[in-house]
Amino acid sequence: MRVLAVHADVIVMISRFWQTTCTAVRAGDEGFVIDSPVYPDELEALAGVLEQAGFPVSGLLATHADWDHLLGRIAFPAASLGVGESTARRLSAEPGQAQRALRQFDEEHYVDDRKPLALAGIQSLPVPGRLALGPNDREIELHLADGHTADGTAFFIPWPGVLVCGDYLSPVEIPWISPDGSVEVYLATLERLRALVARADTIVPGHGRPLERDAAVRLLDEDAAYLRALLDDGAKAPLPAGRRTGAQRRIHDENVARASTLPPT
Ligand SMILES: [Zn+2]
Repeated sequence: MRVLAVHADVIVMISRFWQTTCTAVRAGDEGFVIDSPVYPDELEALAGVLEQAGFPVSGLLATHADWDHLLGRIAFPAASLGVGESTARRLSAEPGQAQRALRQFDEEHYVDDRKPLALAGIQSLPVPGRLALGPNDREIELHLADGHTADGTAFFIPWPGVLVCGDYLSPVEIPWISPDGSVEVYLATLERLRALVARADTIVPGHGRPLERDAAVRLLDEDAAYLRALLDDGAKAPLPAGRRTGAQRRIHDENVARASTLPPT
């Protein structure tokens, strides 16, 4: 797990698996941890890393309900977990799904020292909305970011100028349309994110290193062009340059199948 300081009040930890990011933000004696690293040793190290860096943990947040972003409770079992209302809906509609996906991952990767993941008592947060943090009227903004999946929330942290956007704007992963996602909805989210990126100095994607604003705008344009080509040309849509690996082509094949089916009404 890599640990990067992006601002006096924000550090980002990057998991060895899929470069999944975990972002800690603090204000005074309060702090939130958004999303999570994946491997048990990384989750075990999390509390120590944050304590040493002086980042208090008053609560956990998650950008969406995919299992790889939901593991903070393994590191902080007693902490409250807040998610945008679309994610709360998805979690209550598919109870046990994250645990099943986690178990499948652990079996595939021979992980046998996983502590149980408890997702009871999740707090549903209004989106768009704001979340107060610390003593000086600091607030984190919540914005809808769906399309990758049926749910999703981007967290904009104004005072350090950091946008934590979930599984969008990744330098290592092309746009990925999940079975419950939608190309059209994803494109609408990208345009919503464009306005937030313009206000941000640092963009933390769900997977991959944090980006500066200009690099995030370039990725946003590439991703939108890819998705529009996917709608127009299906399988023939060219993958964004720099992300044309075998793994990304497999995601592309999934996207092609989903782009050719009509979104649910
Ligand atoms: Zn993810």
